[in-house]
Amino acid sequence: MTHHRLGIARFWHESNSFSGIPTQIRDFEEYQGGTLIGAQLLEHPERRDEIAGMMEVLSGRDDTEIVPLLSAGALPAGLISRETVDHLEQQLVSQLSPAGKLDGLCIALHGSMSAEQIPDLDGYFLQVFRSHVGPEVPIVVALDCHAIVTEQMVELANALIAYRTHPHTDLVETGARCAQVLMDTVHGKIHPLTRARRVPLILPPPDDGTMVDPLKKVFDAFIGWDDLEGVIACSMCPAFPFQNVSEQGSTALAVTDGDADLANRLVNDLAGRFWDVRHELLPDPMLSPAEALEYAATIEGAPVIITDSADTVGGGAPGDNTCILDAVLAHRHTINGLILLHLPDADAVEQLKNVQVGQTVTVAVGGKRDRVFCQPLTVTCEMLCIGRGPIQDDAAAGFQATIETGPILCLGIDNVRLVLTERVILGPQPSVFRAIGIEPFEAEVVVLKTGIGYKMTYAHVAEAVLRANCPGAQSYNLKNYLFENVPRPMFPLDGDFDWNPQRD
Ligand SMILES: [Zn+2]
Repeated sequence: MTHHRLGIARFWHESNSFSGIPTQIRDFEEYQGGTLIGAQLLEHPERRDEIAGMMEVLSGRDDTEIVPLLSAGALPAGLISRETVDHLEQQLVSQLSPAGKLDGLCIALHGSMSAEQIPDLDGYFLQVFRSHVGPEVPIVVALDCHAIVTEQMVELANALIAYRTHPHTDLVETGARCAQVLMDTVHGKIHPLTRARRVPLILPPPDDGTMVDPLKKVFDAFIGWDDLEGVIACSMCPAFPFQNVSEQGSTALAVTDGDADLANRLVNDLAGRFWDVRHELLPDPMLSPAEALEYAATIEGAPVIITDSADTVGGGAPGDNTCILDAVLAHRHTINGLILLHLPDADAVEQLKNVQVGQTVTVAVGGKRDRVFCQPLTVTCEMLCIGRGPIQDDAAAGFQATIETGPILCLGIDNVRLVLTERVILGPQPSVFRAIGIEPFEAEVVVLKTGIGYKMTYAHVAEAVLRANCPGAQSYNLKNYLFENVPRPMFPLDGDFDWNPQRD
């Protein structure tokens, strides 16, 4: 029996050009137990990501040997520093070199990794893999559907297949799909060929993601094509808009069994369907922070969720912007009940962690990570209690069941509960409030740094959700950014224009 040695690896980071915080080596080391090297990948049966899906398909087979290479990720933030790229590359090469001859590679890439001097970092790492195995060995790549798909990625991979859900709930399935495509390829059953069609369209994540129209009907259409003769998998990547790169845009992808005509037809069809719903994909108008608070005060029932989407950690924003806190403090007396707000602030936690409960303190909070879009805000408050992490990962944001937060401080300013954590948390997580004895679902107003992540944790109890228009690295108003490297025209930056995938 032919024996195939198949390498598996994962890189995960969404890099935001507008965040002022470069992503460093320690960010990779601190995220979910740090980078896993070689056999360490196999030691985490609890993980629920693409690697888990690859393992489901590839393990326990007599004809296959899994060669675990590396799994590296960091909280979304700013561009990855050059030093970090060198470090990750060294770690990767240290596994690839002794791995020897491989018969195939299954790699999960985010697709929107970008470094200070390397706009397409996914393509860069893909080149490292390709150089090791040579031009003939198949490489199948799983992508987040927020990938910015580049020519280099299409050239270097035999197949590119993205998640089919947002919020993302199919990481495992995507990993499994890719591993199956790789298996069928190394066994000579299929010969994957990938085509891509860029659409000049970027957008903030639509409110209901892929769960409702218009994205649902676009996604349902290409998922239905799985049944067509010769189709291996199609994908639609509505891009990650907060990146100022020359290949920015959404991308339709088609992987067929060696049929270039079919792949071209499908990407043109899919790109056209996506372009046709562009106006429906635009976000609803936002309220100013003051208007959001004023409106919240008029709503009967609770909790009212106010989202500061411009400061979403999951989109690479710092998470400690103070603009919305400023509005909360100014309008707190109009809200009849508790207003909750969480900020990560290691510095303030360090200053306050030994303060006695009941003591009044004055402290500068927030604005320490985000130095681009806000200032720290000085508040006088009462220390109400001090808790500790870890907390439950209610949002299923990572592959572990809990999230390390460090100390959790609850500060009271009249009816405002300002919760500070030492660590930055991917979320939003109701459990951060429960850790200090507050049930967030019973609060009057909960302010969350979230784009659509609240759908997983708060939507089912929210009386209303109001999006506040704050400044930040992930603003839903894309016209806030210069985008000087992005090809133009681009919808909606340049208004509406004619575009036809057949002529592009
Ligand atoms: Zn994504």
